[in-house]
Amino acid sequence: MLEARSAVKSLKAYRSPSAGLTGLNMNMNENTAGCSPRVFRKLAGLTAEEISRYPHRDRDEEIVARFLGLAKEQVVLTNGVDEGIHLICEAYLREDDEAILVVPTFGMYAIYIQATGAKIVSIPMHADFSFPIDEIIAAVTPRTRMIALANPNNPSGTAAAPRELLRIVEAAPNAAVLIDEAYFEFYGESVLPFVSQYDNLFVARTFSKAYGLAGLRIGILAGSANQMEMVHRVSSPYNVNAAALAVLPVALSDQQYVADYLRQVFDGRLRLQSLFAELGLHYWPSLANFVLVRIGPQYRQFIEAMLQRGILVRDRNSDPGCAGCVRITIGNTEQNEKLFAAVREVCRDLRLAQKVTA
Ligand code: PMP
Repeated sequence: MLEARSAVKSLKAYRSPSAGLTGLNMNMNENTAGCSPRVFRKLAGLTAEEISRYPHRDRDEEIVARFLGLAKEQVVLTNGVDEGIHLICEAYLREDDEAILVVPTFGMYAIYIQATGAKIVSIPMHADFSFPIDEIIAAVTPRTRMIALANPNNPSGTAAAPRELLRIVEAAPNAAVLIDEAYFEFYGESVLPFVSQYDNLFVARTFSKAYGLAGLRIGILAGSANQMEMVHRVSSPYNVNAAALAVLPVALSDQQYVADYLRQVFDGRLRLQSLFAELGLHYWPSLANFVLVRIGPQYRQFIEAMLQRGILVRDRNSDPGCAGCVRITIGNTEQNEKLFAAVREVCRDLRLAQKVTA
């Protein structure tokens, strides 16, 4: 009988938490306001011819490279950051190599790393969810071939300063260091300017979050021209679909839309954090479009009560260091008002906070 590789058989399958649930998606860190209307109009006007052809990435890669201030050879467009992670694993990891991750973090690194047969070395984030930079550096061995860090991290929303991440890049010259900047726009600091300087540094970006295009699956992987040539070799030539390629230049050119959305998220983030403080709930100050909050033993009832009010939030209780925690995506101004009201009501009903006034 046909058998999958043992590395694959031992993988834990990823199950999307939002499948089958309806409500306001404050559980997936998407742009809940949707994409730019200009992007949507472009999408609606796609021609049969555009769809019937194989999608060539070249033109969009040039546009993206220019937007980022890089050479075209330093950029590959990917089917979301997810594919970027997969491509790095494919290009660099061998069975029994070591790959360093922090915990808790985004789940797809572990899946793609383990599928290669490489071994994961997990370093716990500090209790305040600051990055354990020295501990990561201390864990580097001659077998370390990959280090993947989300900055800002998911689910904590905390971030490391670029200079701290570069210490890791320097300490592990034989490892592909992937800095996943999926939430870059909500933070503003980046190691991207350093990809020309460090041969082993890779940076991933996405159009799934700030640009509101998660359904089109488009992301960016950037690195040194030398290493990106290797990544190119393992990627499908048609990994990014025609619709995504058609709208990408429009999405990049409508920075006003992104700025408007970001302003609403920054305001909502501050206000949600103030609300948690007022309710006496512990949260981790976030630099992303979501906030992790410790609800405590009643987290399940909290999630259920939010769902009854039409708002989906994410259970993070089983992540290391996250007992009783829930992650909530920030929305636009109108959605945030609904969120704040629901959080207040649910906390009052569950008697979660002493200080809540009726
Ligand atoms: N990286 C991080 C840190 C994420 O949180 C997510 C989405 N939850 C992704 C990557 C996935 O991005 P994409 O949609 O571009 O595959």
